Amino acid sequence: MSVACMAATAYSPAGRAQDVYAGVIVPGVKQSDGRAGNVSNAVEDHLHVQGYVKEPSHKIPVVASVDVIVVGGGPAGVAAAVSAARQGASTMLVEKTSYLGGLWTGGLVLPVLATHGKGKSGEWTKATGGICVELCDKLLKEGWAFNPDSPRVDPEATKYLLDKTVYDAGVRVVYNAVAAGVTMSGNRVESILLDCNTGRIAVKCKMAVDASGDGCLFNWTGDPYEARRYHISTSYLLGGCKGKKIGGKTPVDDMRFSTIGTRAHEDGLDVFRVSELQQKHRLDLWDRIETLRRKPETKDVYLMEVAPTTGVRVTRVLNSLHNVTLAESMEWTTYDDVIGMSGACDPFDYKGRRVEKKDRPVWQIPYRSILPQQTANLLVCGRCFGYDQGITWDAREISTCMVTGQAAGTAAALSAAYRCAPRDIDVKILQNKLVKEKVRLAF
Ligand SMILES: Cc1cc2nc3c(=O)[nH]c(=O)nc-3n(C[C@H](O)[C@H](O)[C@H](O)COP(=O)(O)OP(=O)(O)OC[C@H]3O[C@@H](n4cnc5c(N)ncnc54)[C@H](O)[C@@H]3O)c2cc1C
Repeated sequence: MSVACMAATAYSPAGRAQDVYAGVIVPGVKQSDGRAGNVSNAVEDHLHVQGYVKEPSHKIPVVASVDVIVVGGGPAGVAAAVSAARQGASTMLVEKTSYLGGLWTGGLVLPVLATHGKGKSGEWTKATGGICVELCDKLLKEGWAFNPDSPRVDPEATKYLLDKTVYDAGVRVVYNAVAAGVTMSGNRVESILLDCNTGRIAVKCKMAVDASGDGCLFNWTGDPYEARRYHISTSYLLGGCKGKKIGGKTPVDDMRFSTIGTRAHEDGLDVFRVSELQQKHRLDLWDRIETLRRKPETKDVYLMEVAPTTGVRVTRVLNSLHNVTLAESMEWTTYDDVIGMSGACDPFDYKGRRVEKKDRPVWQIPYRSILPQQTANLLVCGRCFGYDQGITWDAREISTCMVTGQAAGTAAALSAAYRCAPRDIDVKILQNKLVKEKVRLAF
């Protein structure tokens, strides 16, 4: 494997697994190309296909109709659903697990990063506002998080707060339902197909938001995207750590968190490989903890929880109407259609020199980066919105995911209300709504 294909996960003193490389585009996989309109078949690209069987055609019962359906209840999906509902749209949030927060809670990824960056006048400034700050402030106020600049949270308290926030906003949450496909009417998503224990059901929607992290919806709609690889790891919580220098601190006194993982870039869409890694991480971790427990100074440390969600960082990334580039993020680029900002996460090399985190600018996110090229009533947010590989570090962080989520949900609700496609709404109205909700738009 070439150096370009390797990634190192170094555990920093602050307790954060630092990503040393920003992922690679899957070699040998035909990248979906909007201009040619030839989206590759996702299964063949990721798995060895031995042949085909035919599924008998059947009618699928429609069980609900909503203004906005959001697929995926991670940080981006929660922000999208809450924003849409607060704007008055009937909103359904579909989540395949039985809790909200995605990698933030189920992946035990506790620090909320990329909230700040260098402001135009040189000072360290807040990039994030809106729902992200609202949630973080509540967690900090209750003692369920610490470190205001990059809040590190208690995952169970966060699950509680997310449930309460979507409930208060009037979002209808559907847990244990896997979005399994879409039906289209021309270039519009007509319904989302959900697999649950009763069988396959359909929910009709005016607008759909892809917050699945893996770009499930834009894969099915045939919108162009890029398949990327990144390293995969599993986080875990340790108990009995009071007074011990072990793992990263959490808001719970004797609880610490840490991560185990490979350094190679992996295909997060290869279900067999991800399962293999998941199993390997659990087995290796058990040995690691047993070794710790054999030492007198750490004999009371125990494995409290292994993240139920494996840490797949990046898979499909949308080829949007405009993917934000590394240069744009470093050069104070402004967009007429700005819908939020990202902070800086890590230092990196740019134009042959090292740029420290403190010198990395906050950067704007244009509305076009959450809009797919083809499908009229689809918005995309979270770690699969449109950004270049070079800014993967910032673009997939929890705060940036919530910023794109809030914009996607607000735009979806506006589009449903005005009965127009998201790309046709007056972006000034969208921006005014976002500013009213305390989203930051200017450096
Ligand atoms: C090991 C690791 C360490 C990280 N460290 C940090 C860090 O320190 N700080 C930071 O800010 N970020 C960190 N990140 C990144 C961050 O956690 C994620 O990028 C972020 O959570 C992405 O949010 P999201 O909402 O886009 O997607 P996710 O958090 O992945 O949520 C997607 C949700 O969609 C659901 N879903 C997916 N497909 C379907 C479907 N078909 N039907 C129904 N539901 C579906 C999933 O179950 C999940 O709940 C880390 C990531 C990893 C893996």
